[in-house]
Amino acid sequence: MRVLLVEDDPMIGDSLRQGLRAEGFAVDWVQDGRAAEQALDTHPYALVLLDLGLPKKDGLAVLSDWRRQGITLPVLILTARDAISDRVRGLDSGADDYLIKPFDLDELLARMRALLRRHAGRAQTVLDYGALQLDPARHTLTCHGQPVVLSAREFSLLQALLEHPGAVLSREQLEDRLYGWGQEVESNAIEVHVHNLRRKLAPGLIRTVRGVGYRLGDPP
Ligand code: CA
Repeated sequence: MRVLLVEDDPMIGDSLRQGLRAEGFAVDWVQDGRAAEQALDTHPYALVLLDLGLPKKDGLAVLSDWRRQGITLPVLILTARDAISDRVRGLDSGADDYLIKPFDLDELLARMRALLRRHAGRAQTVLDYGALQLDPARHTLTCHGQPVVLSAREFSLLQALLEHPGAVLSREQLEDRLYGWGQEVESNAIEVHVHNLRRKLAPGLIRTVRGVGYRLGDPP
């Protein structure tokens, strides 16, 4: 899952990026409002974490412009401004949720998951497919009730497919989702993850759609 982090404080930005990557998110981090706009123009993101006090363009102005342009992706505001009026303005400018700094990484992760579920129109927290049960919150996968150990990227790839049963996801879409800027992607990285998932779960679980990408196949 690829997220855009907009935060000009180097300490907060760095620790958030590390914490989110450790949870398996691909994170692109920018430090001003203009860079945030450029990033969103060029990459698909599942969610934006947006600081409000930013150089070059204020977070609220960035957010209002996105909403005016019809961009609907979930935005969670991270703000040191704890005045009620700031929070109200944030929500009225189109934010889906907010957190006041300093906050706990676990709470941020829980709110991100809730936003992503809501955005996908899903209320249930666990993704089911055949004998598979994938729990994004606990970062666990079971097959026939037995735990299966996956790498962070295998987990993210499987989650992407389970969120879109029946859809074909291209290699580029999967790479975008699994890798952030500056993270080197081997040309066969996705193939390798798919191969490992088939080996660990079921050979027919993921179908290759030649020249297009991958979609879910036979459930285990
Ligand atoms: Ca700031």
